[in-house]
Amino acid sequence: MKIRGRFAPTPSGRMHLGNLLSALLAWLDVRSCGGELVLRIEDLDTQRTSPEFAAQLMDDLRWLGLTWDEGGLEPEYMQSCRTAHYEEAFHLLEEKGLIYPCYCSRSERMAASAPHRDDGAVVYSGRCFHLTAAERAELERQGRRPAWRVRCPDLSVTVEDGNCGTYTENLARDCGDFIVRRSDGVFAYQLAVVVDDALMGVNHVVRGRDLLCSAPRQAWLHRELGYAPPRFFHTPLLLAPDGRRLAKRDRDLDVEALQARYAPEELTGLLAFYAGLLDRPEKVTAGELVGQFSWAKVLKNDVVAGSA
Ligand code: GLU
Repeated sequence: MKIRGRFAPTPSGRMHLGNLLSALLAWLDVRSCGGELVLRIEDLDTQRTSPEFAAQLMDDLRWLGLTWDEGGLEPEYMQSCRTAHYEEAFHLLEEKGLIYPCYCSRSERMAASAPHRDDGAVVYSGRCFHLTAAERAELERQGRRPAWRVRCPDLSVTVEDGNCGTYTENLARDCGDFIVRRSDGVFAYQLAVVVDDALMGVNHVVRGRDLLCSAPRQAWLHRELGYAPPRFFHTPLLLAPDGRRLAKRDRDLDVEALQARYAPEELTGLLAFYAGLLDRPEKVTAGELVGQFSWAKVLKNDVVAGSA
C-alpha cells in the first residue's frame, strides 16, 4: 500500500519550532518509504486564519526543503472550501441517530461537565441529549442557537500509535459527546479532519502529541462514516526552556526569528537532534536524513527546546 501522509497546518500565524518538527517528521515518514505528502490548509475558522499566513507557511516549509506532492492554496485542499463534504458526513451521522443539538452556553457546559481530563478538556455530561422535544422547542423559541454534538458510545477504542505505542480511551467516559458543528454553523476540527483524511486517501497521520487524545474519537468517527482509520504517529512536543508548551504567540521561537538566526541546514540539524535522530545538532539537509530515518529512533517524550 502506498503511504499517503499529510501536513495540516492552521494558518493562524507564523509556525513555531514545534510545528516545524512535526512537518519534518511527517515529511521524513513519507519520503523514507516512497510515499506521498498532501498539504492541507486547516482554515475552518476564517476569523482566525488567512490565506496570507497560508502562503507564508508554504514559503517557510520550502525554505526548510520540505516539499509536498499535492495541496496548498487550492480550494480542494482548503477546509474553508470543503463545507459540502462536511455537510454530507454530518447528515450521515444524523441518519445514524448520533447527532443532537446542545444549547448549553460555555458556563453551562462547564457546570454540566465531569472534571477536567489530563489534557485540560472537560468531559461533557450529555445534559442536552436528555432534553425532551418540548424543551428543545422552548429553547429554540427563546432564540438559542444550538451547537451539534455527536453521541459517544460506552466503547473502548485503542489506537496503536506508531511512535507512542498503545493508547486507549473509553469514549463515553474519557472523551464525552463532542461538538462537530458550532452554533454559528462552522464545522468542528474533529469532524473535518476525519472527512478530509479519508477523502484525501491519507493513511499516515503524523502530528504533535497534543492531539494523541483526539485519535480514539477520530478512529471511531472514521469507522462510523465507513472509512478505515489511518495509522497515527504522534511526535514529541517541544517545550520552552521554562517548561511551557510552545504556542504561536511565543515569537522567540517562530520561523521569522529562527530564520534570522539559522541557515536551513542548521535548523534542520537542530530539529533532528530534538527528535532523537542525531546525537548532536549539526548541519544537515532534510534529504540527507531520509536514508537513516526510523520511528524507532524518534523520542516519545516532550523535549525542552533550547537544550542545544
Ligand atoms: N491543524 C492542526 C494544527 O495546526 C493539526 C491537525 C492535525 O494534524 O490533525 O495544529
